[in-house]
Amino acid sequence: MKQLAPDVWMLSGFPPNGINVYVIGDVLIDAASRHATRRIMRQIKGHTINAHALTHAHPDHQGASHEVCERLGIPYWVGANDADAAENPELIGERQPDHPISQFFVKVFTGPGHPVDRKLVEGDEVAGFKVLDVPGHSAGHVAYWRESDGVLILGDVLNNMDVLTGIPGLHDPKPYLTPDPVTNRQSARKLAALEPRLTLFGHGAPLRDTKKLVDFVDKLPD
Ligand SMILES: [Zn+2]
Repeated sequence: MKQLAPDVWMLSGFPPNGINVYVIGDVLIDAASRHATRRIMRQIKGHTINAHALTHAHPDHQGASHEVCERLGIPYWVGANDADAAENPELIGERQPDHPISQFFVKVFTGPGHPVDRKLVEGDEVAGFKVLDVPGHSAGHVAYWRESDGVLILGDVLNNMDVLTGIPGLHDPKPYLTPDPVTNRQSARKLAALEPRLTLFGHGAPLRDTKKLVDFVDKLPD
């Protein structure tokens, strides 16, 4: 794990920054695909993890959640409007746009469901971060925001790489992976208004250039 800020770590993976997993304090944020259990267990060894939280219940974020929660005996925290999909992943596929790439991701990455112990809502606190509701890419997508030093974990509200080619750069998430792109862009504007000093993505490298993020979001269509 690489430390990015006080009490904030990023796990390594291959390809680098392809599917990101973070630790904030004693909470594991996201769990990549169902093939990621070993990658996660190996890297968090020696680190106390007392809970697992998602940014959103999509296959490349909840894939190893069940295995990790079972092995560590820790509770599972999910945005209130994604909790049903986290427990019953059939709903993930049903809620994705009907497109061959999204259905392929669902088939290859999705992990088993797992009971949700806490449904996160705006204003909740997780390891010193504030939960923000940022729906659109999924109904119950949440972000984690620490105002004291401007650290933001925003999941897939924005990507900092092209998720198909791996080429770095800011994008809004692919429309065929995003049930409600208009609402997602509203969520992106809500997050950019915070002017984060360090932005952490579900896909792509960490970004410390506040202006780059704000300018990108400014140019998004309504
Ligand atoms: Zn994703």
